[in-house]
Amino acid sequence: MGYPARMGVAVGIDLGTSNSCVAAMRHGEPVVFADQEGRRTQPSIVAFGYGKSAVVGWRARRQLLYAPESTVISAKRLIGRRPNSEEVRRMKAQSAFGITEGEGGDVKVRVQGKLFSPAEISAHVLVHMKKLAEAALGETVDQAVITVPAYFNDNQRQATRDAATIAGLDCLRILNEPTAAALAYGFKQGRRQHIAVYDLGGGTFDISILRIDDDFFEVIATAGDTFLGGDDFDYVAADEFLKLFIKQTGLDVAENRTVKMKLREAAERAKVALSTGDAVEVAVPALYRTPEGKEYDFAVTVDRQTYAHWVMPLVQRTFEVCEDAMKAANMSTRQIDHVLLVGGMTRFPLVRDSVGGFFGRPPNASVNPDEVVAIGAAIQADALTNQSEGSTSVLLDVTPQSLGVRTVGGYCEVLIPRNTAIPTESTKVFHTAFDNQEEVRISVFQGESRMAEDNELLGEFVLDGLPHKPRGQVRVRVTFEIDNDGIVHVRAVDSALGQEREIRIEARSGLSVEEVRSARFDDIDF
Ligand code: AMP
Repeated sequence: MGYPARMGVAVGIDLGTSNSCVAAMRHGEPVVFADQEGRRTQPSIVAFGYGKSAVVGWRARRQLLYAPESTVISAKRLIGRRPNSEEVRRMKAQSAFGITEGEGGDVKVRVQGKLFSPAEISAHVLVHMKKLAEAALGETVDQAVITVPAYFNDNQRQATRDAATIAGLDCLRILNEPTAAALAYGFKQGRRQHIAVYDLGGGTFDISILRIDDDFFEVIATAGDTFLGGDDFDYVAADEFLKLFIKQTGLDVAENRTVKMKLREAAERAKVALSTGDAVEVAVPALYRTPEGKEYDFAVTVDRQTYAHWVMPLVQRTFEVCEDAMKAANMSTRQIDHVLLVGGMTRFPLVRDSVGGFFGRPPNASVNPDEVVAIGAAIQADALTNQSEGSTSVLLDVTPQSLGVRTVGGYCEVLIPRNTAIPTESTKVFHTAFDNQEEVRISVFQGESRMAEDNELLGEFVLDGLPHKPRGQVRVRVTFEIDNDGIVHVRAVDSALGQEREIRIEARSGLSVEEVRSARFDDIDF
C-alpha cells in the first residue's frame, strides 16, 4: 500500500551509533548525499555550546576532544533503555557527559545542567541529515525510512520513532539495518540466493539470514547483540592504555573521565590505523595535567597481534550470535551463497578474516559497508511512496525477540516467538482469578528467558472496570500485534461488555505522547 504523495522528498536515513548516512532515489537510482566537503557520512555526535544551539556531525566531533562533557556520543546505545539496565550502567562508567534518571523513570543525558532524552539527541542527528539532503536536493525532505539494528526491541524502536517525530519527520517505516543492506545488495539483481548479512557497527551487532528471489526478500532468521560494537573494541583498548599509563606514572587517574575519553579517542584512531598498518604509535600529549600544572604525556606502540589478543573475545562473541541465527534458520553455513559485510567495524581485517573463516568463504566485497544501509532505506522509502515506477520489491521481515506476558510464578508465556514473520498478531484470553475481581494487570515482555524478569519489560497495563462476577467468569480477550515496524500494539475486548479498547503500553520509550509533542523542534538553527 502506498502512502499519499506529498510535496517533499522521502529519504532513507541510516541513524548509526557512530555515523549516519542519508540517501534517496533519484531517477530510479539511489544517491547518497554528501556535505559541502564531500563527506558521505556524518558522525552521530551532538555538541552543546555555551549559550548557543547544538551542533551536529563533523563540527561536533571536533568539540569532543576539548569539551567531552558537553558532547554527546553514541546516544543510540541509550535509546529506549531503562536507567537501571546493565547497558546504561556500563555507558555511565565510560561517558564524559552525564547520564541520569529522569522524573518519569527514563534515561536522560545531562549536559550543562540541562536534561535531554536520548530520543531528543537522536532527533538532532536526524534534523542534521534532513538538512544535508535538502541542501543537496534543493527540495524539502519531510518523510523518511529510518533504520535500526534488527535486534532492537519494541522500546528502542518506539523511541527511534519518537526521535523522528521530534525532528519533524514523518517516519514511513522503521527498517532493520541488515534487511536494508540486503535490499540494496539485491536491488535489480534478479537472482535467487541465500545471503547472510553480518553487521558490526559502532554500537551494535546483527546477523540476518535472508532468501532473495528476484524482487522478493524474505528474512528467515535474525539475531543480535545491541551492546556489542566498535565502541567496545575502543573501550577494551583504552582500558589497556589506562593500565599502562597508571603503571608508567603512578598517577591515580583510574576514574578520571577526561583521561578516559582521550584514551578512547586514541584507541579508535589506533584501531583504524591498524586496519591498514602492522603497528601503530599511539601518542597523547598532555594526557593529564596535575592541579599544579605538571603535564604527563602518553605514548605506546601497539602491533596487530597485541591488538588482536585484546579484542578477539569480542569477535568471538559475534560468532556465538551467528551460530544462534544459523540454528534458528535451520541452515548450515554451506547453504549461504553470499556473506555481506555491513558497518564500519567490518573494515577491520581481523573481523573480515574471521567472518570468512566462520562461513567458509570470503565475504562479498561489492558493497560499501558505510552506505549500503542508507541506500536500502532509500529504496524502501521510494517503494512506500511510489515515487518511482517499478519499485515493487516485496519485503518480509521477522520479529527479532519473543513477545510474552508474565504468568503465575513469574514465568514468561510466549505469545509470539522470535523470528515470526511480521506483521503478525496473537490473541490470549485472560480470566479473573477471584470473585468480583475488578481489574486484571498484564505485563508485557520481550526476550528469550523463561523468567519474565530477565526479559525486557515493554510495559504494564490494567484492564479495570470489570463486572462483578464469580472467579473465572469474566474473560478478557487481549490481542497483541506486531506491525511492519516491529512495534507492539495491544487491544483488548471485555467479553462481558463486548467493548474493544486500544491500550497504549505506557512509559516504554520513556517519553509520553505529550512529552514527544513538546520536544518537537520543527525549526532549530543548526
Ligand atoms: P558504523 O556504526 O557502521 O559507522 O561503524 C563505526 C565503527 O566502525 C566505529 O567503531 C569505527 O571506529 C569503526 N571503523 C570505521 N572505519 C574503520 C576502519 N577503517 N578500521 C577499523 N574500524 C573502523
